[in-house]
Amino acid sequence: MQRRRFLLTALGAGALVLARGWSGAARAACGLFGRTPAQTEGPYYKAHPPERMSLLQAGVTGEPLLVQGRVLDGQCRPLAHARLDFWHADAEGEYDNAGYRLRGYQFADAQGRYRLETILPGLYPGRTRHIHVKVTPPGQPTLTTQLYFPHEPANARDGIFDPSLLMKLSRGPQGHVGEFDFILAG
Ligand code: FE
Repeated sequence: MQRRRFLLTALGAGALVLARGWSGAARAACGLFGRTPAQTEGPYYKAHPPERMSLLQAGVTGEPLLVQGRVLDGQCRPLAHARLDFWHADAEGEYDNAGYRLRGYQFADAQGRYRLETILPGLYPGRTRHIHVKVTPPGQPTLTTQLYFPHEPANARDGIFDPSLLMKLSRGPQGHVGEFDFILAG
């Protein structure tokens, strides 16, 4: 009986340490140094894009890409209903500056989740492959930044590239899947 109680106590203590260790790691990941850094908006932002979660439309061709993740605060808590405004180049590396192709905004859900259906952006001179985004939680300032793709040879030659903005890239049934959690101040 004594031995069983000791074992249960030991197991409980171990679980507590594991739980504390995990939440400590989560705090560290979302703390000051885990924040998603801001980056230049660049020359191709256009205000007032349409609201849409899919940028796939007639005339848009390329490799399908799903970008998804969450918007979190500095304690790794979901930030609900942030506005995410995405824009990027087409498969040939061209931006639509006349219209709103491959531009659109959406609101994250109550758990901070967002989901963008689009295509793999092409490269253009001087830049590696990237997606621009502005993230604005309700009543908070906008974070303007860019997302990057792992294993791109051009990452090493791009002076704006930041490895902390790399998406986790995998293959899903519909094509490429890029995952990124935005971690904002607060
Ligand atoms: Fe760009």
